[in-house]
Amino acid sequence: MRSFLKVIIFFLLGFACIGYGAISKPAIAKKSGASFTKLHALQCKKSAYQLSQYENQLIILDAGHGGTDEGTKASTVFEKKITLITALLAKQYLEELGYKVKMTRTSDVFLALPKRVALANQAGAALFVSIHYNHSKNDLAKGIEVFYPDAKQLWRAHASKRLARCVLSQLLQETDAPSRGVKEGNFHVIRETEMPAVLIEGGFVSNLEERELLKSKEYLGKVAKGVAQGIHRYLRS
Ligand SMILES: [Zn+2]
Repeated sequence: MRSFLKVIIFFLLGFACIGYGAISKPAIAKKSGASFTKLHALQCKKSAYQLSQYENQLIILDAGHGGTDEGTKASTVFEKKITLITALLAKQYLEELGYKVKMTRTSDVFLALPKRVALANQAGAALFVSIHYNHSKNDLAKGIEVFYPDAKQLWRAHASKRLARCVLSQLLQETDAPSRGVKEGNFHVIRETEMPAVLIEGGFVSNLEERELLKSKEYLGKVAKGVAQGIHRYLRS
């Protein structure tokens, strides 16, 4: 009788284990599926492009125009001058944050677009940020917009777009300027560079209100701080 009971208990335990296995297997599969999704989402958030490889690497700041290429101008405001002031101030902010920065130009000289690109590509820079100011026939047009390239490499297009969002968001926070959004742009310097790249249009010299702001070094400092904070946020988030 005892051995009969043992056999019954043995079978009951056996069925219980099979039953547990049948339930637990999908449960485990579901759990690991969820973990995979979560991990995958996290990697996507980090752009999945190993941002750590860019940390503490070189950032190129490109002051638009220069020398005989004055860029746009209105009244006493010359784009080539205010892009240089902004880039120099952004360099200071970035260096204070611990980044290594190189400028495409540090004085009022002409520098062809392919040379700006070559400088960034040959240096193996982590990021390329070009600073410009805007002009419109419509003198009511104002605000800041940031362009990213329609890069052939998906990773660069994706990373550049995220950089554009980070930079625009910090620029708006620092300046209180209206947003014109992030946009795809086919500009030579961001198209031909090999790293994540953006081109900032930091305000309209053709708009009376913005032109007055752009005459002030204090305001250009706010733009510069926004650029630096945007880069910092991109690299650290
Ligand atoms: Zn320009």
